[in-house]
Amino acid sequence: MKVIDLRSDTVTRPTRQMRDVMAAAEVGDDVYGEDPTVNHLQQFTANLTGKEAGLFVPSGTMSNLIALLSHCQRGEEYIVGQQAHTYKYEGGGAAVLGSIQPQPLDLAADGTLDLLQVKAAIKPDDCHFARTRLLCLENTQGGKVLPLDYQAEAARFARDNGLSLHLDGARVCNAAVAQQVPLLQICQYYETVSICLSKGLGAPVGSVLVGSHEFISRARRWRKMCGGGMRQAGILAAAGLLALQNQFERLAEDHARARQLAEGLQQIDALSIDLQQVQSNMIFIDCALEIQQPLIESLRQQGILIGGYGQLRLVTHLDIDDAAIPRVVSVFKDFFIRC
Ligand SMILES: *Cc1c(COP(=O)(O)O)cnc(C)c1O
Repeated sequence: MKVIDLRSDTVTRPTRQMRDVMAAAEVGDDVYGEDPTVNHLQQFTANLTGKEAGLFVPSGTMSNLIALLSHCQRGEEYIVGQQAHTYKYEGGGAAVLGSIQPQPLDLAADGTLDLLQVKAAIKPDDCHFARTRLLCLENTQGGKVLPLDYQAEAARFARDNGLSLHLDGARVCNAAVAQQVPLLQICQYYETVSICLSKGLGAPVGSVLVGSHEFISRARRWRKMCGGGMRQAGILAAAGLLALQNQFERLAEDHARARQLAEGLQQIDALSIDLQQVQSNMIFIDCALEIQQPLIESLRQQGILIGGYGQLRLVTHLDIDDAAIPRVVSVFKDFFIRC
């Protein structure tokens, strides 16, 4: 039985073609700046996002950490969503490793931060306070695509208030595909953007941080200090390049399948899905807490894996095909007929 793994888009496996380009990649020592494939990936990503330079890093968590370390000094602060990855899901790295204070604020239902609330959270220049240095947004946020006009406003806001602006764009390629705009149309609003290659894009490992030459040269020093200097990393960068070149536009298929799946599951009375929130490749489902574990277990026994932390989470990706969608809907329906 082929397992249908909907827990995350991080579970994708490299395709045959991807393994071939990895095996054939030209490599050098990237800590010396001599890996041609890494250099190509970094420049390619910079061009795609309209930035001067890029830096290939082992993970999205390290990419965001390096960005925070490069934007903020010890005793400075970043404003971030309470539910954002860069606050909640990165082990407190900025505080632990950088002495950078987070100022979390609740995200609005659409994944944005209310800029009036951000304004109120900016600390005055007074020795009681950490210096507020950076605003950090996330797009997509829980699968939700941030509106372009909101991001334009956030950029103006940051400039007017002397803040830098970083995007945790782990899934910003999904956002661009969902809005049918070039990636740089989103990235233009941010000084720095972190992009995961190892999610829906389907590379096995890696993220790219993009920004100005000056910023990336500082970030390179932090990458080395964090242990992220990877030597013959061209083998991995080759996968990332292929992912950006050949597996970017196909994210639209993941979005179409997520919508189909959400519409199918929404017919089940015991499940509640806000279809307006299904904007890319993620579906969040509310259902009675006592049903969640038996449901997850029953699906698992039938080769379907889903996530659940209070809400159920289903994520479509490269390894989920058309046939998986009706199968998942029907296994869900069977469970609720029986219970
Ligand atoms: C996955 C993810 C990251 C970091 O990714 P890793 O590569 O797993 O460290 C950062 N931000 C968001 C929003 C993510 O979903």
